[in-house]
Amino acid sequence: MESAAGAESNGEHEIIGWFEDVSENTGYVQTQTLCRILELNSGVEYLKKWLGDINVQEMEASALESLYTSLVPLASHADLETYIQRIADGDTSPILTNQPITTLSLSSGTTEGRQKYVPFTRHSSQTTLQIFQLAAAYRSRVYPITPGRRILEFIYSSKQFKTKGGLIAGTATTHYFASEEFKIKQEKTKSFTCSPEEVISSGDYKQSTYCHLLLGLHFHDEVEFITSTFAYSIVQAFRAFEELWRNICSDIREGIVSSRISLPKVRKAVSDIISPNPGLASWIEASCKELEDKDWFGLIPKLWPNAKYVYSIMTGSMQPYLKKLRHYAGDLPLVSADYGSTESWIGANIDPSSPPENVTFAVIPTFSYFEFIPLYRHNQNCSSSIDDFIEDEPVPLSQVKIGQEYEIVLTTFTGLYRYRLGDVVEVAGFHKGTPKLNFICRRKLILTVNIDKNTEKDLQSVVEVGSQLLGKTKAELVDFTSHADLVKQPGHYIIYWEIKGEADDKVLSECCNEMDACFVDQGYIVSRKTHSIGPLELCIVERGTFKKILDHFIGKGAALSQFKTPRCTADEVLLRILNVCTIKRFHSTAYG
Ligand code: AMP
Repeated sequence: MESAAGAESNGEHEIIGWFEDVSENTGYVQTQTLCRILELNSGVEYLKKWLGDINVQEMEASALESLYTSLVPLASHADLETYIQRIADGDTSPILTNQPITTLSLSSGTTEGRQKYVPFTRHSSQTTLQIFQLAAAYRSRVYPITPGRRILEFIYSSKQFKTKGGLIAGTATTHYFASEEFKIKQEKTKSFTCSPEEVISSGDYKQSTYCHLLLGLHFHDEVEFITSTFAYSIVQAFRAFEELWRNICSDIREGIVSSRISLPKVRKAVSDIISPNPGLASWIEASCKELEDKDWFGLIPKLWPNAKYVYSIMTGSMQPYLKKLRHYAGDLPLVSADYGSTESWIGANIDPSSPPENVTFAVIPTFSYFEFIPLYRHNQNCSSSIDDFIEDEPVPLSQVKIGQEYEIVLTTFTGLYRYRLGDVVEVAGFHKGTPKLNFICRRKLILTVNIDKNTEKDLQSVVEVGSQLLGKTKAELVDFTSHADLVKQPGHYIIYWEIKGEADDKVLSECCNEMDACFVDQGYIVSRKTHSIGPLELCIVERGTFKKILDHFIGKGAALSQFKTPRCTADEVLLRILNVCTIKRFHSTAYG
């Protein structure tokens, strides 16, 4: 396959070849991966508790695999918390791994409302580099890019801090941006971020966003693609651009960084790059005036004419931002990025031309040992389960079936053993022997009052249908969340919307009724009909409310790169923000 630079590069060819090999015989590769993890961590306290003193080196690989899955129980983060806390507090004995853990990651926690510590090791950065290179190699087959050019990356490090025991803690993306592997990635993929390290790690996301945009425009004709970890960051950056473009133009014209950039290191780093460019400033100004008249449709290709695509995670909780992203991207392809978690990378998008709605992730069988808990949709009237699923015994990766839904279980090189990730996936097909997964949702229920059961995905579908009615007006949905209010009896759901533009009360009231009526969960429908769940409430919050929520999380140490708006909350601070900012309330009349 030809790329802009000629034939597929050696590095690209090599990494694709490696992946083709390991996905050929996944049963074998997975057994070997598990044995390697157990050998490296042989005798650690946690494994000893379940496996006793068995000598893993002496056991035959498949016998070890059977023994491991029969003796070590499935675990949730809560089961491992005391072990991880001891590590955080400075206990250096081999608790989960033989290699001492020196760094801990904070999973975003914004979906569950609470941040969790997860061990982070060199292996974590190495697999990040590997999956990025692999995905880049598949992408360059479809959308070749010119080596040596730039990427406009909306990436952000959060602050790293020390735990009580002196370990470095921060988000996984923060650790990665600070790692050697991040530098190697720029070298190996021959594409460089527009922003220097000082901008990525400024610790102030507003200043970083401004500088990313400024430098992205400074290098505008060199930018090959635009990216962020999660799509939210790109959308929030361009929403900010709609307000900031005049200031950015003036900085480019004068070659002087705006006074809003107050961090000395960041000012210096950016000032060293830019210089007065009145021609570019005038071009941006004229383009923005034109774009403003089109409500910023096609902003990206207009300002970055050589960009080939937009690349970011657009699935799962990022799907609600897809519409806005498409609006900014105009006719540029949107390529959905890979699937992973702070705990482990899972799969790569190896079909970059498929639209984000259909993207699948080919599992990389060397990264962790993966098991899959088969999930079956519950008999809708039964309320005995913790959620909407009945589960079966976990199966290994080589035994998953197309069309079946599963919860993912991980055994990682970083000391998590049979750890339930809490994500629900569906096997969409296979690449050689490795499954291609559709991300379905987080397993956890978010909205439940009594026998009703609704996941994030259920809420997302309801909001999507409800917000389509906004199309009748000039308004658009900016962001949303929800709350199950159990204080007032009967309990009921509250959905909070921030909208941009004007929508009259009649339309909003219709949106409220429509959402109430389109929950498909039988538990909800029955409860609404019998009035054991009260009418759905739609609260419209003032503009900027979700920014305040973002700021609240950033203040608590979250990184913008990994931020996901919580789709349901019981957090008192968040509810206070939402309720103080509510400017209109509607109650559904859908069930009379
Ligand atoms: P974090 O807590 O920041 O490590 O987030 C990890 C979680 O983000 C995963 O467990 C998934 O629920 C979600 N996630 C990560 N990658 C994707 C993806 N490509 N599509 C959908 N959801 C994803």
